[in-house]
Amino acid sequence: MELCHLKEIGLPMASMATLNGVHKEPRKPKEAPKEAHTLQATPVEKGDKREMRPQNALPQPATHATRPLYMDGTYIFECEAQVREMSLNEGVLSIELDQTLFHPQGGGQPSDTGLLCAKGLSDLSVVFVSKDKVKEGVIRHDCKADEAVIQAWLSHKGKELKVHCKVDEPKRRLAARLHSAGHLLDVAIFGLGFRWQAGKGYHFEEGPYVEYIPTNEGRQLDMKDAKAKTVAMEEISAKMKELVAKNISTEIGFVDGMRTISMDGVSCGCGGTHVESSSEIGEVSIKKIQAKQGNIRVSYAV
Ligand SMILES: [Zn+2]
Repeated sequence: MELCHLKEIGLPMASMATLNGVHKEPRKPKEAPKEAHTLQATPVEKGDKREMRPQNALPQPATHATRPLYMDGTYIFECEAQVREMSLNEGVLSIELDQTLFHPQGGGQPSDTGLLCAKGLSDLSVVFVSKDKVKEGVIRHDCKADEAVIQAWLSHKGKELKVHCKVDEPKRRLAARLHSAGHLLDVAIFGLGFRWQAGKGYHFEEGPYVEYIPTNEGRQLDMKDAKAKTVAMEEISAKMKELVAKNISTEIGFVDGMRTISMDGVSCGCGGTHVESSSEIGEVSIKKIQAKQGNIRVSYAV
């Protein structure tokens, strides 16, 4: 892809050159809590932990961090976990686990949903997953169920409780395709000679897009020239088709302790879930190119 919001993920500017890529960030979904482009990027345990937590948040002991198993593989949908905390807020049972396969909303990617199951208890519907705003590294699972079911779960508060996590597979697969298409868009744009920097990305099913910050380098596009925009859209569409057919692998690596995703040599920091190769994304249509407060928004659909 192209440039990422490396600045947001704490990478030094010098690293941007070495990464040679760009990536985007999310805009908030209509009903999603706003978590400004907090990058998706997640630092590794021993690596550089430079400021990934939200401003104003006090750091908490990392021993409470939830192990993000979703980074181990996009197509793993079930796992076991141990409940660490439970709290009830306005009918929603929020659960912390020692590890999870549920991807929290952020980095332009929506939250996974699914089920939490436990022996002797009725299942809980996981309706939203997010990173705790105060406890660094902790992932919260907001769950819903009938009042009696929630009370039954709460009766285990403070005791050992093992759960079985089941991620909604179709939703996860679609999220990975949508999100990965954003990375591939970075690759396409870079390949066409543009040197735009990726701004934010929004990879929800409804109206996904990536916004780019134009630069004086590389090929230029006059956003007031309708014909030029049409030509650019056609070129990007053709390039995307070519890249999907090329079956490019998604490579995962680490730079300065930061997880990076690379496709066709274009990389950026990212903690999202991705397809294993570009052919899994399928057909991508470029919907429009618009000027947005000085940036260039490229909307797409998969
Ligand atoms: Zn990504």
